[in-house]
Amino acid sequence: MGAPRVRIDVLGTGTSVGVPSIGCGCPVCTSPDPRDKRLRASVLLRYHGRNVLIDAGPDLRQQLLRLGLTRLDAILFTHAHADHILGLDDVRPFNFRQKEAIPIYGTRETMATIRQVFRYIFETLHSQSTIPRVEVNTIDGRPFDLFGLTITPVPVKHGSGDCLGYRFGSGAYLTDHSAIPPESMKLLAGLDALFLDALRHRDHPTHSTVRQSLDTVAELQPRRTYFTHISHELGHEDTERSLPSPVAIAFDGLALDVAAREPARVARSFGPPWRSPCALTIGNFDGVHRGHAELMHLVAQRAGLEGWAAAALTFDPHPARIVAPERAPRLLTSIEDRARRMTEEGIEQVFVLPFDREIAALSPEEFVERILLRGLGARHIVVGEDFRFGAKQSGDVALLETLSKRLGFGLQAIRKIDSHHQHISSTAIRRHLDKGEVSAAAQALGRPYAIEGEVVRGHGIGSKQTVPTLNLAWTSPVVPARGVYVTKTRDTHSLREWPSVTNVGFRPTFEGASDERSLSIETFLLTPLEDAPPRRISVEFLHRLRDERKFEDPSALREQILRDVTRSNAYHRRVARWVQTVRDC
Ligand SMILES: [Zn+2]
Ligand SMILES: [Zn+2]
Ligand SMILES: [Zn+2]
Repeated sequence: MGAPRVRIDVLGTGTSVGVPSIGCGCPVCTSPDPRDKRLRASVLLRYHGRNVLIDAGPDLRQQLLRLGLTRLDAILFTHAHADHILGLDDVRPFNFRQKEAIPIYGTRETMATIRQVFRYIFETLHSQSTIPRVEVNTIDGRPFDLFGLTITPVPVKHGSGDCLGYRFGSGAYLTDHSAIPPESMKLLAGLDALFLDALRHRDHPTHSTVRQSLDTVAELQPRRTYFTHISHELGHEDTERSLPSPVAIAFDGLALDVAAREPARVARSFGPPWRSPCALTIGNFDGVHRGHAELMHLVAQRAGLEGWAAAALTFDPHPARIVAPERAPRLLTSIEDRARRMTEEGIEQVFVLPFDREIAALSPEEFVERILLRGLGARHIVVGEDFRFGAKQSGDVALLETLSKRLGFGLQAIRKIDSHHQHISSTAIRRHLDKGEVSAAAQALGRPYAIEGEVVRGHGIGSKQTVPTLNLAWTSPVVPARGVYVTKTRDTHSLREWPSVTNVGFRPTFEGASDERSLSIETFLLTPLEDAPPRRISVEFLHRLRDERKFEDPSALREQILRDVTRSNAYHRRVARWVQTVRDC
């Protein structure tokens, strides 16, 4: 929890001439939608109190004024085309304020062009006018540290020329490119957010098109993608509507954040890239709750001390699916979700053991020797005190202890931690959610239970007859019991979030909508949307307000909803006050 993050401010999303294009009267250039106004492509990364630009195009002054930036720590250049470098002269105010040169980074080729274009900066003859002061750093393609964050250059082809994308933690920014070489694709696994050049629909010799970038997305499967460097041939609204919901069109002013750490690598077979030796914890880790987090912290601690990898072993499918399918639980989290959460708890690599009859039949000794020691290179193992392993669950912590002495690995068996006078477990969390006890679930998880999905058109009842709502299309097998909840709703593509009230139910007040399959999750935002409605949201369940109820008529329902809103507002205000008090302490 609370792992460091990189905030990304999108400064410009336009192609080299920007949008509108001078003198053009096309529908996009004359569109009233502010998201169709695109300055030249650039983003600002903020982390560890530092501000790092990627590219400095001709609109830089305007972009930084709009953002109110008061300090600049470095510039990473992708390549030396005019639309990415011509703003370099605008670093002077930062030179004055900070009384230091600004470090700039780029390939040898990029730096050579910058030296030519900005000859006056690098000539020793000083005139009376002020010139920018920069400190040139030539990068050779290897990852490097910038203020405590690893920056990985990602070489891409830009027509017959070259360009660099940059990866930072779980995010990556790939502007101008027409192709991504296979070696570079390997640098882009497991991303939380990916920016991609998507100039237009028609082919272009030096830029990726919408279709090509969608192919890249299909191959890399980042959690979220943002198209950028866009021409006036793509209108924001229409183009975005045609894209699958994890893909959005970036716009000037968009802000989001990603984990500053690389997400844990997920491996499904022994050998590289799995790193050994490692400290290891083992379990299903469904939900990655507070109890799991404790095991992972201990693993990370030991791995850090010894210089080993911090690792977790989990199973897919859930072992119960093989040995007792009728008892197999509905999962709170997908493998990807779990890996992402584990990253936040300090885990660097996750081994997903394909659980089958053969694995289920291994004796406890075989499991330890073959899988944990030889396969994964575990030197230190951290498990819960009730850990069972091997055929018919016949191995326990006592046996593991004997094996640890005989085979020479470290062992820590941890007592379960409690919440609400019961041991924290994924099963207990599922039970809480089934009963609508979302606050108890949140306490055990260490965060509110959330459901993510696309916003879909509802039955129209919400908006016409009562209050406007966002209808969520969800895939999670675990939904809190029917009822009305205080929630927080987040736009998964930006930092936007709203206090909200959410109804989980069968819409009983209206005829013909009561069959099992029409269970709906409807969220009413308590503060105005202001911008366009989100396309994909995550709804966090904070507190249960009441059961779902049938009302005489829509007006009775409306009155009840207004009461729900009042109570929810009071709840959100209490939380805000509490957070403020904690901050003031
Ligand atoms: Zn460009
Ligand atoms: Zn135009
Ligand atoms: Zn270019």
